[in-house]
Amino acid sequence: MKYYSLNHKAPKVSFQQAVVDGLAPDKGLYFPERITPLSADFFASIGQKSNVEIAFEAIRQFVGDEIPENELKRIIDETLSFDFPLVKVEDNVFSLELFHGPTMAFKDVGARFMARCLAYFNRNNPTQKNTVLVATSGDTGGAVASGFLGVSGVDVVILYPSGKVSDIQERQLTTLGQNIRALEVDGVFDDCQAMVKKAFLDESLSHKNLTSANSINIARWLPQMFYFFFAYKQLAAQNKPLIVSCPSGNFGNICAGIMAKRLGLPIAHFVASTNANDTVPRFFEHGKYDPKSSVATISNAMDVGNPSNFIRIQELYGNDLAEFEKDFSSYSFSDEQTKAAMKQIHQHSGYVAEPHGAVGYLGLKKELGNHPDAVGVFLETAHPIKFDAIVENTLKVKLEIPEQIKGVLDKEKVRTKIKTYEDLKDFLG
Ligand SMILES: *Cc1c(COP(=O)(O)O)cnc(C)c1O
Repeated sequence: MKYYSLNHKAPKVSFQQAVVDGLAPDKGLYFPERITPLSADFFASIGQKSNVEIAFEAIRQFVGDEIPENELKRIIDETLSFDFPLVKVEDNVFSLELFHGPTMAFKDVGARFMARCLAYFNRNNPTQKNTVLVATSGDTGGAVASGFLGVSGVDVVILYPSGKVSDIQERQLTTLGQNIRALEVDGVFDDCQAMVKKAFLDESLSHKNLTSANSINIARWLPQMFYFFFAYKQLAAQNKPLIVSCPSGNFGNICAGIMAKRLGLPIAHFVASTNANDTVPRFFEHGKYDPKSSVATISNAMDVGNPSNFIRIQELYGNDLAEFEKDFSSYSFSDEQTKAAMKQIHQHSGYVAEPHGAVGYLGLKKELGNHPDAVGVFLETAHPIKFDAIVENTLKVKLEIPEQIKGVLDKEKVRTKIKTYEDLKDFLG
């Protein structure tokens, strides 16, 4: 499979090259040249297939022959080493829990898949080093740190906005050591992301073989398609139109969902649910894409003012707004609405949703109003413990600390504070 740059000013590249580069030389995001739908038989028998079989079928065409079938199956098997339960919250409303991985964030899947692809590409080349540079608004950092820990030939440098991630999130990205280093940036997430993008284009850093592990990287982005197949697998027997709501920040997850639909997955409608960072909901209202700087909210992993994957979604719809609106809605919710939803869900069903999931729930409920015959899924993208303070204060509950989190709580945070792009360059050396 070849990938082209969405800026159309760079040559097409292989899967491997796109993974290793992250961003194309013309600053564009990579996009697959072809999307071939899966067979009707595949969907008819999806209920009998394992998650690994489903994931393999979903992603194989995007990898092509660059990773042999048995190796790709092994990579997927190792990536999906935990469950993706669908939990009923109300009649026709389900939570797809994506947080049962090692860092309890849905980004574990993309990070684990990408790390194993890079390790495969470096297998015969012990001296080859890649530096993964990643900006995080919260959960990416921990998932990337864990996914890449100990992967030979890969150094990881994580940038996070000072004071804008939770204590547990900060510990997950500052306590691992080995090939993982963290930079605490005096700024907001968009500053971190801007520095990372600049570094990728900086010729003077070319010897570092920089690559990204944000969802701009196809190996982080594409495996997120799996979730939508897993949701469908668990609901196919209901024979109702399926609506999926994604709590969205950089819009990688929901864009992967639309890719899954292009593979033939029967999803009737997508909802991109956002917090106060409402660039996409405003786009739908006014037809104009007008990014703003991000504002801080209680669902901080979605505090993104200029979602990098939106351009991929536009590519999928060929800028045809009417077609786009048929499949896709986007709504924004305030922190107050989010907290009220968390309380309502808890009182109604006993289910504990954290703020990102609650934003997803709100968008789903709003859209279900237009589709009374449908069944809806919202993605619960993090375990409530990742946002323990806000969850415990809002719901007046005490959360139990899961095993995955206990491991980082008593470790010392190790990070370097930086302010400017020059600081980042000095650090990388
Ligand atoms: C990253 C993240 C999101 C947003 O996902 P995107 O793919 O960036 O839209 C939502 N919730 C949580 C908990 C996250 O970590």
